[in-house]
Amino acid sequence: MEKREELYAGKAKSVFTTDDANLLVLVFRNDTSAFDGKIIEKLERKGAVNNQFNAFIMQKLSDAGIPTHYEKLLSPTESLVKRMEMIPLECVVRNFAAGSLVRRLGVEEGQELTPPTFELFLKNDALGDPMVNEFHARSFGWATDAQLDKMKELTFKVNDVLKKLFADGNMLLVDYKLEFGVFQGEIILGDEFSPDGCRLWDKETREKMDKDRFRQGLGGVIEAYEEVGKRLGMTFNYDK
Ligand code: UDP
Repeated sequence: MEKREELYAGKAKSVFTTDDANLLVLVFRNDTSAFDGKIIEKLERKGAVNNQFNAFIMQKLSDAGIPTHYEKLLSPTESLVKRMEMIPLECVVRNFAAGSLVRRLGVEEGQELTPPTFELFLKNDALGDPMVNEFHARSFGWATDAQLDKMKELTFKVNDVLKKLFADGNMLLVDYKLEFGVFQGEIILGDEFSPDGCRLWDKETREKMDKDRFRQGLGGVIEAYEEVGKRLGMTFNYDK
C-alpha cells in the first residue's frame, strides 16, 4: 500500500489517498482545536495518542459487530481506513448532561439522563455545527430514513459497548459524537473515537479526562488522555 496525495486537511487529521481507490490514510496531527477552530494549539504526543486510542476503540467496536471504516495501524500517527461517502451529520448520545445541552436547556451538569438522549448536528463549521432534526436530514437529502435508523441503532450499540468498557476503567462515558459514511451501500462508522470527541469523567471524583480540559484551560490534556488509555490497558508507542 502506497500513500499518495493529500485529499483533505481537517482541524486535527489529514487524509491521504492510496494506490487502492477504496482505502485512505488518516494522519493524526498534534493540532488541537476548540470552539469551531477559533482556538488551535499543538499538543505534544496528541497525534500518536489519538491514533492509537482510536485504533483500540474501533477494534473493540468491530469485535462487537459494529461495522467501521478502520482497517489497521500503519504507524504511531497513521491508520488505514476505508474510503466512504460521508454523511454530513454528527450523531451525539448523552448519558449525562454536559456541554451544549447544559447551555441550551439550562439543566445541571452531571444530571444522569435516563434513558440516554440522542441529537443530530449538521457538519458545518461556518454555521457552528447547528443542531438539526431528522426531518431536516430527510428534507435536505443529508440522509434517508433507512440511513437515519441505522445510524441511531449503531450509535446506541456503541453506547452499550463503550459504557461498559469505560466503567471497567472506573470512568463514566458522559457523551460522544460519531460520524458515519456509506461504503459499498452500507452505513459504517467513520471518523475517529478519541477523548477529543467524547466526555469521560472519573467515576468517583468526576474529574474531566477529555477535551474539556483543553476547552476549559484546565491543563494536563494529553496526560489525561494517556491516563484514560492506561486504565483501558493500553500502552502508547511514540516512535517517530
Ligand atoms: N463534539 C465533537 N465535535 C463537535 C461537537 C461536539 O466531537 O464539533 C463532541 C463533544 O466532545 C462531546 C459531544 O460531542 O463529547 C457533545 O458535544 P456538545 O454538543 O456538548 O458540544 P460542546 O459543548 O462540545 O460544544
